[in-house]
Amino acid sequence: MPTYEYEPCSGDCRICKGGFSLTRPVTAPPLENCPLCRKPVRKLISSFSTPKILKPLSVADARSAGFKVYKRVGKGEYERQ
Ligand SMILES: [Zn+2]
Repeated sequence: MPTYEYEPCSGDCRICKGGFSLTRPVTAPPLENCPLCRKPVRKLISSFSTPKILKPLSVADARSAGFKVYKRVGKGEYERQ
């Protein structure tokens, strides 16, 4: 599941303190409110999905950048590399 980052629209959330990240299924509906304080939030575009990256990252590049890399080894199974 991808991790999404959110920030409060109003900027005065005392619980999530200016932003939080949440791992959600791709199929989940957009998160519109902070799950903790219920304030409206907006999703931040992660650097991983911006069109600035012109070529796909290699496994080594992704790992050196701190990403966890998983290889699909079977139906529904993933192996951490
Ligand atoms: Zn909040």
